[in-house]
Amino acid sequence: MIQFEYWWLLVIPFFFALGWVAARIDIKQLMKESTSLPATYFKGLNYLITNQYEKAVDAFMDAVRINNESLELHFALGSILRRIGHIDRAINMHLDLLENRDLNPAQEESVKAELAQDYLKAGLFDRAEELFLKLESGKYKQYASNALLEIYVKEREWQNAIKMATKLEKESGVSFRLQISHYHCEIALDGILDKDKKSAFKSLNDALNAHKKCVRANILLGDLDAEDGEHNKAINYWKKIEFQDPESLGLVASKILNSFEKLKKPEEGLSLLNLYFENYKLRSLLNVIYEATLKLEGSEMAEELARKELIRKPSLQALDQLFQARAMNSKQKEQDIQLIQQTVRNAIGNRRLFTCSDCGFKAKQHHWQCPACNAWEALPSEPTEMNEIS
Ligand SMILES: [Zn+2]
Repeated sequence: MIQFEYWWLLVIPFFFALGWVAARIDIKQLMKESTSLPATYFKGLNYLITNQYEKAVDAFMDAVRINNESLELHFALGSILRRIGHIDRAINMHLDLLENRDLNPAQEESVKAELAQDYLKAGLFDRAEELFLKLESGKYKQYASNALLEIYVKEREWQNAIKMATKLEKESGVSFRLQISHYHCEIALDGILDKDKKSAFKSLNDALNAHKKCVRANILLGDLDAEDGEHNKAINYWKKIEFQDPESLGLVASKILNSFEKLKKPEEGLSLLNLYFENYKLRSLLNVIYEATLKLEGSEMAEELARKELIRKPSLQALDQLFQARAMNSKQKEQDIQLIQQTVRNAIGNRRLFTCSDCGFKAKQHHWQCPACNAWEALPSEPTEMNEIS
């Protein structure tokens, strides 16, 4: 027993010594690397940290001049040039490296990867695509595939995007199901524009096969049927959204109500929406319910609805609705109430926003793809009221 414990006591200093040696090797390596870099490189880094990009460019230009052999310095300079929009200078520098240097195949590949990034940033998608396709077999494989996917999405080449996303999914193990379902939906939209409903229908089913939670596909399938006057079928598609993502029911609330109206059963539509609201408390549902109640059941019922909601969860939207309904109910002080309501409406203004969970972009309406960062379904289906009273 005792001997066993002694044995452990010897192990600890052994590992300690090992770590010390390893650390020293690292430090030595680091010192060696940093002394081979020109001082202007560190000056440039300093400018970068303090966001003085133009000065950083000058410093890196000096560094490249002093240490002209280093490709890494060229790449650093190139990436700053790209970042501050001097893409033409980056392109010329990388082309110059390709043409006037004796590069081994690995180095040539690295320069091409940089140049492809320049083209991508410059919006020269054809040239970028050509280079990235060449890089798809080597060490930049995954990077090239990601860039190609980005190009296909920007160029709205959805079939290519589906192929590339499927390939990336196999190579990386990361799921692209959601993205692929949207590519199919985009193809369906093209079909709808071309008045080819049959192919649109097929693409929407492909979207659901790719990703069974694709809400957008069921919305569009319902739209197709509603357009053909098949309102029962349309409603059935929209009802499925409850089991995909109930938060998205607000996106179809007015569609559901419209179709029930066409079927001459508006009350049935209203009670379905009321049921959804009871279960999920979505404010966008409430807005549709409020309008329908006003129309079908009169301003007193609408007033009651708005008051209840205001007590449950105070919001400018509900306050606005309460004032509207009250203005209709009480003839006496109608003008005052309208004035208050106008003020509230002005205050609401642009406060109902859809905020991208990836980049923070704020949109006034719902987008499936963020207009700023291109992420899919990063904007919520329910807007948030900014400065909410809660
Ligand atoms: Zn975004």
